[in-house]
Amino acid sequence: MSVGLLQKTDDEILLLKESSLLVGKTLGEVSRYLKPGVDTRTLDRIAEEFIRSHGGIPAFKGYNGFPATLCISINDQVVHGIPGERVVKDGDVVSVDCGAVLNGYFGDYAYTFIVGETDKHTADLVRVTRESLELGIAEAISGNFVGDIGYAVQLHVERHGFHVVRDLVGHGIGRHLHEKPEVPNYGKRGRGMQLVENMVICIEPMINMGTWKVIQEADGWTIRTRDRSPSAHFEHMVVVKKDKPEVISTYDFIEN
Ligand code: MG
Ligand code: MG
Repeated sequence: MSVGLLQKTDDEILLLKESSLLVGKTLGEVSRYLKPGVDTRTLDRIAEEFIRSHGGIPAFKGYNGFPATLCISINDQVVHGIPGERVVKDGDVVSVDCGAVLNGYFGDYAYTFIVGETDKHTADLVRVTRESLELGIAEAISGNFVGDIGYAVQLHVERHGFHVVRDLVGHGIGRHLHEKPEVPNYGKRGRGMQLVENMVICIEPMINMGTWKVIQEADGWTIRTRDRSPSAHFEHMVVVKKDKPEVISTYDFIEN
């Protein structure tokens, strides 16, 4: 595939910004209800209703058979947790990943919440994961390589004694949820596809406190750490630019 095909037009980027904004507002809505005692199915219902009432379609629901609007992954669950009867508890580390389609374009990003208080080591894991995302984003400039992103993420994470999940990666996004290129959270400088201006990619470090190794639970979806140590996950949507990457997703609706 020609790299040029991965570049979005200005009009497409505007549409992706609209889809992204809907995801951001949905995450904000979910965050208002994310408290000890809520079950994850309730959070999922809130997200689905919010997306549909704003003219969107949940992007994950039905994707390869996934049954819900959100992926909610708690503590040792890394990603792809299925909302259900599980009740959120004080001290839980909860990754909420949300996808929405609007006007044929996809939005997809994630945030890890600490519900109440957790121990310092787990709080560090969440902070370092988020920092690693920012460092990865900074590499999303034209002329750099996909490997430069993974290198930056991995270096920061491993410096702090944490570990990068290898089995799951970030991705391009557009009229499809998952487009090329794959964006691993580990790698070597100068390796992989070269980035060109107006590629739109999801960078999404999945970082474990213990081993990077993961297993899939019996539900066929949920990925959890093999050693049952906690895991964190943040995801942003980024437009590759010449000088400074443009982040088109926002946590403002969660944090402000
Ligand atoms: Mg993604
Ligand atoms: Mg996602």
